[in-house]
Order: sequence, then structure tokens, then C-alpha cells
Amino acid sequence: MLINGAVVEGTGPAVEVVNPATERPYAEVGSASLAQVTDAVKAAAGAARSWKRTPAPERGEALNALATWITEHTESLATTLTQEGGKPLVENRDEMGWSASCFSFYAALGRSERGRVVPSGEAGQLSLVLKEPHGVVAAIVPWNYPILLMAWKLAPALAAGNTIVLKPSPYTPLSTLELAEGFAEIFPPGVINVVTGEAEVGAALVEAPDVSLIAFTGSVDTGKKVMRTASDQLKKVHLELGGKDAFIVCDDVDIEVAAKGAVWAAYLNAGQVCTSAERFYVLGDVYDDFVDAFTAEAQRLVVGDPMEPGTDIGPMVRGAQRDKVEAQLAAATGSGASILAGGDRGAFERGFWLKPAVVVGVDESMELFREETFGPVAPIAKVESLQEAIGRTNSSVYGLGANIYTQRLDYMLEAMEEIQAGTVWFNDPLTDNEAAPFGGMKSSGIGRELGTEGLDDFRQTKHVHIDTKADIKSWWYPYSQYAAHQSEHGTPPG
Ligand code: NAD
Repeated sequence: MLINGAVVEGTGPAVEVVNPATERPYAEVGSASLAQVTDAVKAAAGAARSWKRTPAPERGEALNALATWITEHTESLATTLTQEGGKPLVENRDEMGWSASCFSFYAALGRSERGRVVPSGEAGQLSLVLKEPHGVVAAIVPWNYPILLMAWKLAPALAAGNTIVLKPSPYTPLSTLELAEGFAEIFPPGVINVVTGEAEVGAALVEAPDVSLIAFTGSVDTGKKVMRTASDQLKKVHLELGGKDAFIVCDDVDIEVAAKGAVWAAYLNAGQVCTSAERFYVLGDVYDDFVDAFTAEAQRLVVGDPMEPGTDIGPMVRGAQRDKVEAQLAAATGSGASILAGGDRGAFERGFWLKPAVVVGVDESMELFREETFGPVAPIAKVESLQEAIGRTNSSVYGLGANIYTQRLDYMLEAMEEIQAGTVWFNDPLTDNEAAPFGGMKSSGIGRELGTEGLDDFRQTKHVHIDTKADIKSWWYPYSQYAAHQSEHGTPPG
């Protein structure tokens, strides 16, 4: 781990990291003891003042240096991540590219402004709206995109002048620990600290009095726990939680294009993406053709060794995750749904495999079509109109993202206005842009990452009012002057 610039062993219980493709232990990582969590927070608090006062261009240089470090170490980081997380190597290389790009973006944005000047009430006065860091940010991230989701928090938080204690998921700590070498080379001691471990370590960070803001990405249930604990100390929380993204296919589409886009949106990273398409609503006229094209496309996908360049889908991250998905599938088929393809473990001897499933005959009474699945499953329903699709999309408690395939402008405008989701993608599923905000409505989260919004969420606001004249104001004591003024002029003093 990295505490106050020093690489240290976690002295808490050891956690075994398993390769999901082989089910074999890959490494053992010591967790942080509670004393080490305290040390990490203390180190971040100790570095907070000087990092806040470090000129923004200098902070930007450090962020750019980190972007370069990630780019130079792409192959090694991506390989480690593939072996600990199971995501195909090609996707992990992309993850490193997006992460580096996020650090470069905030290197520039962090030095572009630090607030605004607003008109004052009188001449000789200045009203400044200053944006300041919160202090120590606890960044707690999941296993599905450990480096990217870390970057979405660290880049804006550091650019804003905060210091960090970062906790990766116990499933995927190794790539983050490798990256910590870069943190140690580039940043002053204490600015970024990394502690590993399970829920207790995360909970200790949330409770630590010197942590001012908790930036959390993970499940809704854990997000609620984080928020409950944080509320005792009235700490700020920034929550990126789960989703049940809808994918609407309208009746004007090119079926082949829509099916290929839909398959990618459903099965990317074995469906373990917070914005995976998990509910398909297809307009009646194109439903049969879409289901046929989608199923054919899903059956063509290569499921196998994530280190192989030709692999489309790797294993799921853990057996427990797969059990949950299989239970949802079984409950849905028990209630009348049909699996047209996949949904089985294939012929693999070891590893957490699940072949991409296509399911029809589904509706919102089924958990599979209502709760987050987080696995390679595409449940598809027929709808009569775009209005029905939008209504059913919005019936969810989640509001992270939504996809729509159409080129009809009237459909686009209707969907754009009506859909309750933090991101709405038309004809280009799951494409994020670091210059544009990302986050969830409803139960999918609080706050936004990326864009100028992402920087602002890691800053607090201070109004500074300056009067250069330093004269006596007419509205101060003694109030007897009011009565005198009133009787002399017939009006109160202005
Ligand atoms: P999780 O909630 O189990 O764990 C997330 C992180 O929180 C891990 O580091 C974990 O160790 C830590 N943690 C667990 N209990 C804690 C506690 N009580 N206090 C503090 N920290 C605690 O989630 P996961 O299984 O790692 O990730 C999958 C979930 O993440 C899915 O629900 C997915 O939708 C969500 N996710 C959301 C986004 C987004 O941006 N909205 C992105 C990716 C994943």
C-alpha cells in the first residue's frame, strides 16, 4: 500500500486475489489494519494544506505526468487487470487510454478557473466566489473498471486541490497497487494514499473524522450504508451506483446496426458495466427481425481466455456474481420467460463463465427485468410505441443511462426530453466523454463525475466580499441616527 509516500505491507488480514478465468489464486494482498487506515487519513490531512496552496499549473503538471505514466505502463497494468478481473485484455488497454485521457483533461481544466467574480453592491467593492478543495477525499471504487473509475474521482479531486485516500476493490487491488508506484514517483508524500481491504476498510474511511468527502462507486446497497454513516458527521457524499439501463429500438432502424450495437451494449465486460444495457424495448414492427439478428450476433461471440486477442467475452468476476445472475435467469424462466441462446456455463472446466444469454417473454414483474443483473444477459420485450418504451424505461427506480436507436428527429426529441437518466445515448451506446458529465438520476446516484460538473463536485464554495473603502456604513449603530435622519429628511438613511 502507499501511506505518506512510503510503500508498506498491509498488516490486516490477507485477501486472496483469484484469476476469474482459472479460479486459481493469483496473489495474496495484505489488508490495511485500522491503525493503517488512520495513518493514511492522517497523511492525507497533513498534506492537504500544501497541496491546496500548490499553484494549479503545478498540480496540472503532476496530473499530466501521471497520464504519461499510465500510457507508458499500459501493457503491464492491462495485463494485471485482466488476470485479476477477467475483462479481455483489449478492453483493459482501452481502460488505460481513457484513464490517462481523464488525467490530461483535468490537468488543463483545473488551471482554467477557480470561481467567478460577481457584481458588487457598491463601487470600490469586489465579490469573489472562490472554489476551494474539501480537504481529504476518500475514494472507494469497485472491481469492474478499477483504474478508470479511480481516475474519474482522483483527477478532478486532485486538480481541485484535495488529497486522497484510495481504496480499490478486494477483487482487483493489484493494478491499483502497481499504479501506486506512479503516484509515489510523481506526487508529494501524503497527497495520494492507497489502502487495500474489504468492507471494513471502506467503512473505516467513511467514519474517519478527517475525511471530508466520500466519493464512492459501487452498489446501491453499499451506497446507502455509506450515506447513512456519513450523515452522522454531515459529510458530503458523491455516489455513483447501480443501474438497469434501457435500450430502445425504434421502427426506423437498420436492424443489423442496431443489433450489433445492442449486443455490444449488453455484453461488454460480460455485462458487468454500470451502464450495461439490461432491458431491451423493441417496437413491434421490427421486434422479430431484431430478436433474430441479435441472437445470431450473440451466438457468434467468442467466449474464452481474456488474454487472447480474439476473445470477445471473458469470465465473470466471481462465482457469487454468476450465482446471482443464474438465480435471476432461473426465476425468470420459472415465470414464463424463454432463453433463446446462452445462459449456460459452456464446456469450461474451471473459471466463472456464463455464455451470453438472450431472453424473451420478459416483463417488469421479473427481477431479471427490474433489478440490476450485472452479467451477460439481454432480456428483450416487445412494445407498441415509443411512448410505451419510455414509460416502461422510467418505471425503474434506477436512472443511470439509456440507449435509443433511431434517426427520426421527432423520436429523438421525445426520448431526450422524457427519459429520466443521467446519460441518454442515441445510436452510439455507452460512449462517455470526459468533457461531459456522467452520473445517475433517482437511485443511481448523487453528483456527477467528468466535465466541469465533475470538478465542481470536488470543490466547495466560499463567497469573499471585499470593500476597499473601509468607511463607516450608514446602517450601523446607533439606530438613533435613523430617527434623526427621518425627522430631518422625512426618509430613512439610505
Ligand atoms: P460494492 O458496493 O460491493 O463495493 C464497492 C466498493 O465499496 C468496494 O471497494 C468495497 O470493498 C467497498 N465497500 C463495501 N462495503 C463497504 C462499506 N460498508 N463502506 C465503505 N465501503 C464499502 O460494489 P462492487 O460489487 O464492487 O461493484 C459493482 C457495483 O458497482 C454495481 O452495482 C455497479 O452498478 C456499480 N457501479 C456503478 C458505477 C457508476 O458509475 N454508477 C460504475 C461501476 C460500477
